[in-house]
Amino acid sequence: MRRALIAIVGRPNVGKSRLFNRLSESQKAIVHDEEGVTRDRQYADSEWFGRYYTVIDTGGFVPDSEEPLLAQMRDQAQLAIDEADAIIFMMDGRAGFTEGDREISAMLRMAERPVFHAVNKVDSWERREQFLTDFYQLGVDLYPVSAEHGNGLDALMDDVTADFEVVPMDEWQETTTDGLIHVAVVGRPNAGKSSTVNRLLGEERLLTSDIPGTTRDSIDTKLRHEGRDYLFIDTAGLRKKARISARVEEFSVVAAIRAIDRADVAVLVIDAEAGITSQDKKIAHVAAGRGCACVVLVNKWDLIDKDESTAGEFVKEFRHQLPFLDWAPVLFVSAKTGQRVQKVYAQIDAAYEQYTRRIQTSELNRFIEGIVAQHSPPIHRNHRVKFYYTTQVSTRPPTFAFVVNRPDGVAPSYRRFLENRIRREYGFEGTPVNSVIRARKGHQRES
Ligand code: GDP
Ligand code: GDP
Repeated sequence: MRRALIAIVGRPNVGKSRLFNRLSESQKAIVHDEEGVTRDRQYADSEWFGRYYTVIDTGGFVPDSEEPLLAQMRDQAQLAIDEADAIIFMMDGRAGFTEGDREISAMLRMAERPVFHAVNKVDSWERREQFLTDFYQLGVDLYPVSAEHGNGLDALMDDVTADFEVVPMDEWQETTTDGLIHVAVVGRPNAGKSSTVNRLLGEERLLTSDIPGTTRDSIDTKLRHEGRDYLFIDTAGLRKKARISARVEEFSVVAAIRAIDRADVAVLVIDAEAGITSQDKKIAHVAAGRGCACVVLVNKWDLIDKDESTAGEFVKEFRHQLPFLDWAPVLFVSAKTGQRVQKVYAQIDAAYEQYTRRIQTSELNRFIEGIVAQHSPPIHRNHRVKFYYTTQVSTRPPTFAFVVNRPDGVAPSYRRFLENRIRREYGFEGTPVNSVIRARKGHQRES
């Protein structure tokens, strides 16, 4: 599902990260809690009365950068302008309006995005008007807030999220589709994303180009390959590299979030020469954690001195460093020479097929009953946990519900054990698999 993206911008020390923490506290909406996908504090998923969003603290991206402060602030504001659906511009009500605020404000004025001006550190709420006086010169609506105490956040968030789509929780996973396979090509700057996309698109007849994406300057490209229709997400951003996020290493994760939220299949491009970097890991986390199918391309393979064991060793290293993505196929390609690039389509198709695959309930139950009989779940407070039945509640990605008498009695490790058995039995290569433990309706307290 596509979530709206909220970016918090502002000078250092105005309280951005405090606000970020507050907005990510009410996390009702975490559905993909795969093991190994640690929550990345640069972004968080949350919800405001049925409106789902991802919030990023732009200041959290370049903590130890050597760049001058002003340049950093400009980059951060530009990131928000490039990628966000709504921007919260935070200022410090105690410090008053400063030169740095003026710089940022001038940049944001060019953004064709809603900008909400928050004046923070308004701790004595009765006197809030006094804190605002200095900021009236901006000539915009102001939101007095205290990120520390929570004052004013309701008014701010009501307005920030007012235009976001409301998505009922049940409709969350199975969103309607248009019959196209949506593909997001993600990775670090210079990994070879645009070269790969150019190769993939280049030799095909373009059905339509210039389909506006969700952001002002993003363009999706639709094409048919061997009778199948694909939508490549934000090809403009990849090909032209107009965006700052395509160039700044740390920002590439934000572009990945945006693209992956709209994708069925993420194609993660890794630079073979550079190896697996921490940035690759962050982007891989985004793909795995957001429930997207994934195909990994180890690109620039032409530059590598290799013998018959080189590819195998790379895969081993990959599995070791990114265990949470151990289900993703790895393909060695060269976007430059074109070597194996056409095979990417087959991998995308295969991953998509698994991503949308459904196992029959009867078949699934036979299988799980057998497993539970052989490896019974641990006793919970002197009671045996009973497994009533198992059902696949959704595809995209395949998600299974184990219906039991005592949901509390099923440890996460046992749930993962069952997930692993399902994977071992049915494959599901290229897609994450999720599961939930549920109480049988009306039997919550049964012993
Ligand atoms: P950032 O650099 O913009 O991310 O700012 P931080 O969130 O790290 O906050 C900078 C400092 O301001 C910290 O010491 C916070 O505790 C403090 N701070 C944040 N919000 C408030 C607030 O609403 N009131 C007061 N008094 N202090 C705050
Ligand atoms: P992006 O930033 O991820 O979109 O990366 P680009 O596609 O712009 O590629 C970055 C640089 O790597 C460019 O100079 C490309 O020509 C080069 N490049 C991309 N793929 C390959 C490859 O497979 N082999 C070699 N040798 N160079 C490549």
